[in-house]
Amino acid sequence: MDVTEANDDSFGIEVILPQGGKTAPCCPHGPTLLFEKVCKGGEKGRRFYACSACRERKDCNFFQWEDEKVSEARLLAREAEKQSKRPLVTQQEYCSRFRKFSALPLDEKKFCQDCQILLLPGLHEAHSSHRSIAVSTAQLTRPSVLLRPLDNKKSNAQYLFTERSSHFLLDSLAALGFTKVLCVGTPRLQELIKLRNLDQKHEPMKSLLLDIDFRYAQFYSQDEFCHYNMFNHHFFDGEASSAVLQAFLREADGQKVVMVADPPFGGLVKPLANTFSLISQRWRKLQTSDSSNTEMPMMWIFPYFFEPRILECFPSFTMLDYQVDYDNHSLYKHGKTGRKQSPVRLFTNISPKDVVLPKDEGYRFCSICQRFVLVLNKHCAKCNVCPSKDGREWKHCSACGKCVKPSWKHCQACGRCALPAHPCGQGEDGCFNCGSQEHKRKACPLKDSHRISSHRSKAKSGGKNVSRHPLVKSKAKRKSGGARRAKKMAALSK
Ligand code: SAH
Ligand code: ZN
Ligand code: ZN
Ligand code: ZN
Ligand code: ZN
Repeated sequence: MDVTEANDDSFGIEVILPQGGKTAPCCPHGPTLLFEKVCKGGEKGRRFYACSACRERKDCNFFQWEDEKVSEARLLAREAEKQSKRPLVTQQEYCSRFRKFSALPLDEKKFCQDCQILLLPGLHEAHSSHRSIAVSTAQLTRPSVLLRPLDNKKSNAQYLFTERSSHFLLDSLAALGFTKVLCVGTPRLQELIKLRNLDQKHEPMKSLLLDIDFRYAQFYSQDEFCHYNMFNHHFFDGEASSAVLQAFLREADGQKVVMVADPPFGGLVKPLANTFSLISQRWRKLQTSDSSNTEMPMMWIFPYFFEPRILECFPSFTMLDYQVDYDNHSLYKHGKTGRKQSPVRLFTNISPKDVVLPKDEGYRFCSICQRFVLVLNKHCAKCNVCPSKDGREWKHCSACGKCVKPSWKHCQACGRCALPAHPCGQGEDGCFNCGSQEHKRKACPLKDSHRISSHRSKAKSGGKNVSRHPLVKSKAKRKSGGARRAKKMAALSK
């Protein structure tokens, strides 16, 4: 949720998705993405390649101008860097270690907390000065509990589902008849699926975890985990992993596949959407002809304020009212200690009427909208929708002709509803596409140009990738991730 504001004289960075032909140079995280700075008036900046996965230079400092000639020495250095970042052992080796580990007597099962690895007896000596703990059989089935969540503020923070949310997801998927779950960045869901299978009273489900965190490789077989980057659809183990996905997407004997993705919230929508479409396309190619134009069932978990951008990429998606919450994130936690209302939602192409939201958690069915909504989200007869996005009861403004947040008031000067304390007379946020204050997105001269992705400079949804790029000075650097998050959350609740 690190949504940063860029400074006012830069309108942000656009991603230009690969369109075949030119191949992007690679960093340790696979093919880089091509970025372009957009200046005032839509003037184009020089394009450059940067890491798809890391938003901070300290995590991956890859940088190359699009038209730059790269010396042999630099290419060699890059290659060395790539090698140094690879996991030390192959997935195959991890599997055989896991089998050996599982067979060990309890008192020999150790996990090194410093290195975050399972220790076979031969390694106990080498890690003797590290903090290690005994691992029970039960703990082995819960890697997401055993492993320390990555807390890299920017690129890779891991927010794990609460019991409540993970069980809701799993039960919903089972009720919808899915038997294969492609878990993209959802290690806890994968783990729960495996646990549920142990319980013989259920129809077994298959799952495949695609994640950049290769610590998970230690716990799964080759057909259960692939080291993967969801921002560029890159398999770190190449063809072998790609084939694992291919096999997983094939639906034999009435199997039904669904994808559930929970990307880092700082992630760029367009590259993610591109990846999910690529997966969906692979799935579709495996379908029999009569379903050849359908999309693969998908659930994309992301904050509600990304709704317009996600729907732009996937018009078939609906945002559900269900609030997803997380164990290790107080802001997103349900209940007394955290913020009561998580801003994180499910975006899906599954028919919303089929995703039953729990009554005892305050959801009801709206028969007009044909979807489950929060009880507070009252149907507006004038708009003919249940309008609330943030979980509070919205109210209709007849001057605006739409429902607005409860804290907003209609401002005559601006001719729209806004917070009472808004900077009056300065118009709305400006153009969503290029950031200009002169026009709205509809009238944007850049709207239909080749640009595929855009970022607004304003806080709401853009500029997230800005801070690490040398071209753009950003306020982001001056604020801690936490401070920015808190600020964003505060803004949200107004
Ligand atoms: N709520 C989920 C975890 C979501 S946190 C659960 O409980 O299972 C985001 C996840 O995405 C983490 O597992 C993280 O390792 C993974 N991730 C982050 N960046 C990624 C990338 N570029 N490619 C693939 N996975 C990534
Ligand atoms: Zn160690
Ligand atoms: Zn209304
Ligand atoms: Zn109004
Ligand atoms: Zn514009």
